[in-house]
Amino acid sequence: MTVQSGSVDVSVAALKGLLARVFVSNGCSATTASILAANCVEAEASGSLSHGIFRVDGYVASLRSGWVDGAAVPEVYLKGSGYVFVDAGNGFAQVALHAARDLFVQRIRENGVAILSIRGSHHLAALWPDITPFAEQGLIAISMVNSFGCSIPVGAKKPLLGTNPFAFAAPISGQAPLVFDFATTSMSNGDLQLAARKGLTLPPGIGVDSSGESTTDPNKILNGGALVPFGGHKGSAISLMIELMVAGLTGGKFSSEVDWSAHAGAQTPHTGQIIIGIDPAFSDGFSDRSNQFITMLRDAGMESYPGLRRWRIEHKGSVTISSAMFDNLTEYAMEVK
Ligand code: NDP
Repeated sequence: MTVQSGSVDVSVAALKGLLARVFVSNGCSATTASILAANCVEAEASGSLSHGIFRVDGYVASLRSGWVDGAAVPEVYLKGSGYVFVDAGNGFAQVALHAARDLFVQRIRENGVAILSIRGSHHLAALWPDITPFAEQGLIAISMVNSFGCSIPVGAKKPLLGTNPFAFAAPISGQAPLVFDFATTSMSNGDLQLAARKGLTLPPGIGVDSSGESTTDPNKILNGGALVPFGGHKGSAISLMIELMVAGLTGGKFSSEVDWSAHAGAQTPHTGQIIIGIDPAFSDGFSDRSNQFITMLRDAGMESYPGLRRWRIEHKGSVTISSAMFDNLTEYAMEVK
């Protein structure tokens, strides 16, 4: 660990260990703690700051409020040959995915396609860590999560949708997988909170205040206002689909049904997650065609494609965080719930 003025350079392994202690100290099982710690640290290390270390406060507050069960043991069932179902038992979605992963991959490889339906789960993270490993195994994966009512569908007068991220990962043989992952709102809630903390003024079109007027003040959006979907009616429709695909298919909550008012400090949306897996080995030459496609993108002048940036930096061995953040984590790790 190297300490500089105001910041600390800490190895990825040491930071994962510290975060795992934070989560165990706040009621998580060893399995959950190591999964969440890896998720946060890898997001931070690859520049996904809106879902990196910054989120630890939200996890800890949710765990301490009793809203989420850090020791939940997911139940995995097979429904039909290609429908893997997990009841997360009010635990974290990544833990449910971990429990069902081997069966899900086996079903994808056997059927060519399978769906993983997770319900009763909490997700406060980026989706790319959930699906990139599938692409690294040669599989295509698509994932969706809904969150909590903070975005107004086009044509509506009140927030019904979550920030509802959508993610896609596909293998490109011999190259970095093509992976994209973004909120279907004009800005993610994490970036909105970071903008508010920094006192930034937003560009127009991100959200509205409590009276429904467009605003560039992140605090007004966070305090009684709402985000809007990206891309007008197009993003709004994609977000509607995500509500239906996630809450409708899993039996979990719609974003507008998430009610954490009895759990002060809770920040982890209690909803569900869908992952659709496809085995391109069943296709007619996906491996060659995907490579041709990347060549076409490069010939068209694209120097990069979604996923490549992270692929290039993700093996960095250390993370720089503020000293205040490091001290905060150390305190969390020592305070036993
Ligand atoms: P961004 O707007 O930052 O977009 C990120 C995606 O776009 C990445 O796949 C990124 O690839 C790609 N990308 C960004 N810029 C470019 C570019 N110039 N050229 C090509 N590709 C580009 O994402 P959001 O802020 O909307 O979302 C951030 C995160 O928040 C996501 O990981 C999402 O899952 C998460 N989230 C989670 C929620 C939850 O409830 N769990 C709710 C909402 C969001 P690359 O990284 O390779 O650059």
